[in-house]
Amino acid sequence: MRPRVAISLAVVLATPLTIGGGAAAPISGSGAGSAGASLFAANRISRESPGPALAEFACPSGTLPEGPDVVCVHLPADDEGAPAAETQANAHRDRTGNWVVYDQIPRRPDRPEEYDSYRLPVACERRCVVSGYDLDRPDRLQRRGPGLSYVGHGAIDIAVARGTPVFVPKLEHQDGPAEVVYVGPLFGTTVVTLHSLREGAALREYLVLFAHLDAAAASVVAGKRVGADEPIGFVGDTGAPGLVHLHLEVRRVRAGVDVRALVRLSEGAGALVNDARTVACDPRNVLPLRVSSSVALP
Ligand SMILES: [Zn+2]
Repeated sequence: MRPRVAISLAVVLATPLTIGGGAAAPISGSGAGSAGASLFAANRISRESPGPALAEFACPSGTLPEGPDVVCVHLPADDEGAPAAETQANAHRDRTGNWVVYDQIPRRPDRPEEYDSYRLPVACERRCVVSGYDLDRPDRLQRRGPGLSYVGHGAIDIAVARGTPVFVPKLEHQDGPAEVVYVGPLFGTTVVTLHSLREGAALREYLVLFAHLDAAAASVVAGKRVGADEPIGFVGDTGAPGLVHLHLEVRRVRAGVDVRALVRLSEGAGALVNDARTVACDPRNVLPLRVSSSVALP
């Protein structure tokens, strides 16, 4: 589950106890619910200190004592979250030839380029992504065609058989279960889920759109919390007749936007994909990595 093995132990030195250092204090938490994302300053216990027994200065949660100077080193826990993904501006010509400027979040350099490196929300072994994310590319390299309504592709298209169950993925650094925020027409029959992710020592909200579904699962309604083991719908071609595939789109919710309220606005579900409210994001930033099937035998 946790592929990250390159561990860097960040050691933050704080005031020696001999001159009054106390318990380590969290450095700026960021907002509600982000307690696990806080970084800890470490206590350094001087060897010269005649101070109290080490046991009285147990390292704070998320750190361990190490070295002759008994430095509390920060453990690389999962709840640190992903690096903060940066929003970038890009532009393309729409179908009428006008330049459209938009924001988008490109794949982070630490995320694999190959789509086969990721666990998809449908059962599929290899080469299932038939059209990738390209909103980070120059205009001339973005997807367009006479049969396509939009220029560029802020999502991935996964080709699997009609009726294939779609499961809500547990995204990287996800905090708590996902929640269904919309079920209905958008890009064909679409289910939209809301996920809170730890990112840059903060909690950020992301939407995942599962589009062109044959149907949503019967039990899936707005407000329902969904785990990774229950299907939320079935692959189809609604809104894209004859092209059976799952359009999987990830969008980061802009700060201060309440997506649950958005779907009640007069503009309807389209507000969920409005650049002013949510930003297109390369799904590779948040999809879980595929666990290698090769097992080293003793
Ligand atoms: Zn698509």
